[in-house]
Amino acid sequence: MPKATETVLEIDLSALSHNFKYLKSRLDPNTKFLAVVKAFAYGSDAIKIAEKLVALGVDYFAVAYANEGVALRNAGITTPILVLHPQPVNFNSIIAHGLEPSLYSPKVLRFFLETAVKKRKEAYPVHLKFNTGLNRLGFGENDVDYIIEQLADNAAIKVKSVFSHLAASEDIREKAFTQNQIAVFKKITEDLQDKLGYVPFRHVLNTSGIINYPEAQFEMVRSGIGLYGFGNDAAIDMELRPVAALKTVISQLHKIAPNESVGYNRAFSAKKPRVTATLPLGHADGIGRHFGNGKAYVSVKGKQAPIVGNVCMDMIMIDVTDIDCQAGDEVVIFGQDPSAETFASFADTISYELLTGISQRVKRVLI
Ligand SMILES: *Cc1c(COP(=O)(O)O)cnc(C)c1O
Repeated sequence: MPKATETVLEIDLSALSHNFKYLKSRLDPNTKFLAVVKAFAYGSDAIKIAEKLVALGVDYFAVAYANEGVALRNAGITTPILVLHPQPVNFNSIIAHGLEPSLYSPKVLRFFLETAVKKRKEAYPVHLKFNTGLNRLGFGENDVDYIIEQLADNAAIKVKSVFSHLAASEDIREKAFTQNQIAVFKKITEDLQDKLGYVPFRHVLNTSGIINYPEAQFEMVRSGIGLYGFGNDAAIDMELRPVAALKTVISQLHKIAPNESVGYNRAFSAKKPRVTATLPLGHADGIGRHFGNGKAYVSVKGKQAPIVGNVCMDMIMIDVTDIDCQAGDEVVIFGQDPSAETFASFADTISYELLTGISQRVKRVLI
């Protein structure tokens, strides 16, 4: 693999393919697979990731917001796309681009129905989201009759699927709570099917749900983080391969004498002679200030180099005193070691936040 010569986020499509096949191997062969590609496919490259997943035979995509779906359509993706959190202001655009909205409240249902009628749509596909305990987005159990009333005698929209989202699928201590969410979901879908007179497909599992509650896979699952290489579980992480690796290059070395300081506000002060390396990335690239002052290490020639002093907007400094390196050498911020999960933990966060926070200034390269 060529060494990085500037700050890059490497995207490994063979890792994506491996993760997709691994997750599929844990499911019934008939279960449909929805790939969550919101937030630039968890900070990587939504279009490249989506194109690869299409080639691998994915059934569905999900994005959070309408504009993310529009970007996929403009890139030529024709697979169905569920918009998880649409706003009414974007309903015209959703319909114009053949995106499928999640409808999550009486108001949103009514408004989408009106829009579809106005546009003379027939059986436009929509998805009903139910709240079963996350208390974030979704109809309540008691909304079923209202939904049925709205849908009766209407040909403009058709319920393609019914879904819910788990609050703690990765946390085995919350097993009873999760099983209750699944039971409530099942009950709602049965009620709805009876009253609708047709059978929408059902989905409730995210990545950790696939791992921990495969009995609740219904007709489809929705996976995001697993596709990108993380399973919220050390044993599963061993089976998956990280898709994204953030690499950079040393800009300059500095010899720091005792009592000299490094960086803004003199946050690091040398007790012994030190050598620091300056790297061309900072909090504007998604490596926040919480990673500074010794909390995180990066990898230079396979050795750990801690971040010293405050993270700047465009640069960080690392301690390379014991590492034989020079300007131009490659530095791994996260990838194999440290993994994004480990690196995230240095700042008390999770791989999801670290990955999605890598800013658009960082060049994406496919490998
Ligand atoms: C983001 C999201 C997912 C994906 O969750 P992962 O833990 O990344 O697999 C699934 N469903 C909904 C509703 C989401 O918002």
